[in-house]
Amino acid sequence: MMNPKQKCMICGGPTQLGFSLDRGEGDRRRQEEWWAGKPTKSFMMGLKKPRERYMIVTLRCTRCGFLMKFANPEE
Ligand SMILES: [Zn+2]
Repeated sequence: MMNPKQKCMICGGPTQLGFSLDRGEGDRRRQEEWWAGKPTKSFMMGLKKPRERYMIVTLRCTRCGFLMKFANPEE
């Protein structure tokens, strides 16, 4: 599980909680997701949705800018 107080792995600086934007579909703003397995094409939807999916949260180091991603279950 992600610890929001996690220090930067590169420089040990403080991190700030955030998330990356998935901008694949026009101007719709969606949070980036992690999907289990290999990408499988679906006839209508582009890619098939696997059963196991997690929303991705990102910690950004406020000193050096390094990003650490965590795939957390949806709340
Ligand atoms: Zn850093």
